[in-house]
Amino acid sequence: MCNEHGQRLKIRVTIRQRMVKAQVWQVQVGRSLLYLLDTDIIENDVDDQQITAQLYSGDPHKQLAQEILLGVGGVRMLQALGIEPAIYHLNDVHAAFALLELARFELDQMGGTLADVTPYVCDRTLFTTHTPVPTGQVFSLAMMDDYFVDYWPRLGLDRAEFFALGAQSSNPDVFSMTALALQLTRSANAVSKRHGEVSSQLWQNLYAERSEKKAPIGYITNGIHSRSWIAPLLEDLYQDYLGKHWAERLSDPDIWSKIEHIPDERLWQRHQILKARLIAYTRDRVLKARRERKECSDDIKAVERLLDPKVLTLGFARRFSDYKRSDLIFRDLSRLTRIFSNQKRPVQLILAGKARPNDTAGKRIIQRITEWSCHPDLRDRIAFIEDYDMYTAKLMVQGIDLWLNTPRRPLEASGTSGQKVALNGGINFSVLDGWWCEGYKPHLNGWAIGEDAETRDQEVQDTIDAESFYAQLERDIVRLYYDCDRNHIPHGWVKRMKASIRTIAPIFNSDRMVSDYVNQLYIS
Ligand SMILES: *Cc1c(COP(=O)(O)O)cnc(C)c1O
Repeated sequence: MCNEHGQRLKIRVTIRQRMVKAQVWQVQVGRSLLYLLDTDIIENDVDDQQITAQLYSGDPHKQLAQEILLGVGGVRMLQALGIEPAIYHLNDVHAAFALLELARFELDQMGGTLADVTPYVCDRTLFTTHTPVPTGQVFSLAMMDDYFVDYWPRLGLDRAEFFALGAQSSNPDVFSMTALALQLTRSANAVSKRHGEVSSQLWQNLYAERSEKKAPIGYITNGIHSRSWIAPLLEDLYQDYLGKHWAERLSDPDIWSKIEHIPDERLWQRHQILKARLIAYTRDRVLKARRERKECSDDIKAVERLLDPKVLTLGFARRFSDYKRSDLIFRDLSRLTRIFSNQKRPVQLILAGKARPNDTAGKRIIQRITEWSCHPDLRDRIAFIEDYDMYTAKLMVQGIDLWLNTPRRPLEASGTSGQKVALNGGINFSVLDGWWCEGYKPHLNGWAIGEDAETRDQEVQDTIDAESFYAQLERDIVRLYYDCDRNHIPHGWVKRMKASIRTIAPIFNSDRMVSDYVNQLYIS
């Protein structure tokens, strides 16, 4: 971005007693404008040039520098651009220092104390929380001292008053970004009903201590951008049966009830094409990976036998964080092998994912899964796609029969991949957490893994959930899938596919989500 004199627009932020400059990029994303801050410019110290180089470095100093740039720098950037937002909506805590900068600006203009300007800050700010863990994101007080010693006087605060803005009753030695965001915004929301309940409980203390009465943390459940995730092959079918304007009336349940008019054969045939495409792609990716690793010719040749489009296909793809329990279904390896290698009714699995760069536990899980999938009885039935990306995600959610999600409750704030699957006729088989607590309709649109209990010992819960997975897969799911008529159409399964689309698509989409934000939060 350039200013009116044709010079590059740059903003300045002091980070750890050093002045850092950032240039501004403008990106057109559909009908929206996205602004990016970039410190990789020659005027900056070499270390500061790296601030915007990497997303998950794992280094708390880098993260604090990034968040000061994003929050404080973000407000300054909007001012430099002449943009005066009616609402600053903080998506997660990472930009929460923006609240301090808005307060500082008001103080400069109006004078007074932080308490005087707080209502002006709150009036224009909203916060959406994303993590249901008690610690949330925190920085040590020693670090905060280091980075903010020159800043709190500008808010008219002393050290203790400043640290009170991020005080967390459970741990007095840290500055909590969530506490900061909750205290200086008009309203806070979680991203699913369950997450709202959990978050309200987690932050109860903070609300009890506050003098003014504020509503607890509400929720607006996340939804996917349907037009980005629908397979063109199905979009075409929806045009024919739901009407030409179905994509403009996404949240209308009447539109989606017309799904029942699609003949089973037509839906099933298109789904089979999408599944065949996914399998071809998976083989291709596995083949390339094996060649790159210079594996022996037998293993490379074996890729020809990997996966079969006629077999019930499970999918699991996401970041391999610990709480996602990516290895849950491998707990009883012999049972899994028995189910997968059943002669009459086999099952196969496509996995994809990656771990954060410094997450060794996540990397170890990937390594173990890769080893298990080399077992002679499993090697044709389990495929792992490395380097998970948006394109792989797309082919998977569009081609899979049954989608797995096995998070440790209640840590899945929302999750959205299962919504992409349902839009494309896939069926969810997941732990009741996040959005699935709202989406799941028993005996109608999918299956739930495990019983619900928040306080159980983790080992015990893992065993219960794994058992529930095996039992339902063996007993109900596999039977329904392989119960076909003479033309190889599994009508019972297709009925569930249709129920999955019809009950999930009208609710879990971003049109509904955005209109909820506008009506419930932006214009209230
Ligand atoms: C949708 C999506 C996610 C979110 O997946 P969850 O399993 O719901 O957490 C993650 N990564 C990619 C690439 C996605 O498309």
